Amino acid sequence: MSALDDPVPGGRPGDVERARALAGELSGRGVHGVVLAYVDTAGVGRVKTVPVARLASAAAWGVGMSPVFDTFLADDRIVSTDVLGSPDGDLRLYPDLDRLVVLAAQPGWAWAPVDRITQDGERHPGCSRTFLRGVVADAARTHGLTFRAAVEIEWSFGLDSAPAGEFVPAATGPAYGAIRQVELSDCTADLLAACAAQGVDVEQVHPEYAPGQFEISVGALDPVAAADRSVLVRQTVRAVARRHGLRVSFSPAVTAQGVGNGGHLHLSAWRDGVNLHMGGDRRHGMTADAEAFAAGVLARLPALTAVTAPSPAGYLRLKPSQWAGVFTAWGLETREAAVRLVRGTAGRRAELANLEVKPVDLAANPYLALGCVIAAGLDGIASGATLPEETVGDPAALDAATAEARGVRRLPASLAEAVERFQEDEVLRAALGPVLADAVTAVRRGEIEAVAGLDDEQVAAAYRWAY
Ligand code: MG
Repeated sequence: MSALDDPVPGGRPGDVERARALAGELSGRGVHGVVLAYVDTAGVGRVKTVPVARLASAAAWGVGMSPVFDTFLADDRIVSTDVLGSPDGDLRLYPDLDRLVVLAAQPGWAWAPVDRITQDGERHPGCSRTFLRGVVADAARTHGLTFRAAVEIEWSFGLDSAPAGEFVPAATGPAYGAIRQVELSDCTADLLAACAAQGVDVEQVHPEYAPGQFEISVGALDPVAAADRSVLVRQTVRAVARRHGLRVSFSPAVTAQGVGNGGHLHLSAWRDGVNLHMGGDRRHGMTADAEAFAAGVLARLPALTAVTAPSPAGYLRLKPSQWAGVFTAWGLETREAAVRLVRGTAGRRAELANLEVKPVDLAANPYLALGCVIAAGLDGIASGATLPEETVGDPAALDAATAEARGVRRLPASLAEAVERFQEDEVLRAALGPVLADAVTAVRRGEIEAVAGLDDEQVAAAYRWAY
């Protein structure tokens, strides 16, 4: 079986036997249940769980769950499209056994991401993981490309003892500060231990800029595995934090003012084992395909924002000069450019050079975000897109004429504006297919309606603990 294969009723070849053997092994390790995880259109992680004894049955026949969750909002209200949002029908959740891990910070539990198929054994067109698998398979078939990807994860640690709904930072030390590292020493050490036990190779964990904020970065994997991993790492951060009396928010804006939580994507395209972002004859060593890929992403960023920043709270984060990348600018290692070419250190560039896409937060469904960014990049390759002049320094400081000449424009400043751009974007809508594209639009419009009349503080409070 290839990791890109669809589930089939009766089980993917070999999966049922494998699930049986795994179940025995899991029981021996004190595991009682398996969390079956996916992310909805709004970006909220949803789960079913099964006892270990049902794992083989889940691998063969899946586990039932309504498709209505595809049009849930972050506050669990339900909107609808032509085909989604009704109480009718059912789907089957199939665990990807390749990704099953024992959860180190939730004793008694294992975890696996799922793909969702219909009761008739067809692909569910609203399944974001199936969508990303399709984009990756198509890139291999049509362009001979593979990808390596990683999602940076930032969050705010709050005290569990804070009044209901409120955020009280769990650390008071300065940004990137040694004091803060000491304050949360036990918790972050446990986080490293849990990640190691779960096979997650952590590159760094460090205190970030905002009060109580930390970040973890992990090694790159193929895009589907990278999206799975970002879901797993968030589950792990939350579980570890709870054991230390802490509450975690991945919301893009835990408070209305100040720096928010990002979920920057790192992505590199490879052909025949060669990284296209290095060793070419274009600027900074990009190959022609890497430049066209970056140009495709850059051109579609206004529409992509509806996918990469899906929450009204995301627009409290997306402000100039806060490293969130809010202009259609690209640059080499420029932290204010929405698309940043990261070359990495001399000696390791052929391996590590990649693109970082910054206007992405952790309200974003990582499968949708990676799939849409890759689809935009592939369209750039197909259309031979070229990059304008690069930006050095903060694009917010460019004079109007220079910004215009370089195509540097402010990204949507509201979710409503992002949805308008998304609605106009035939490439993204076609990549998603009508069911997912309509779900994205309906869910975003539902979120916009949900915050009508709220001020910034109220918007931040509304989503503070939703992600
Ligand atoms: Mg950071």
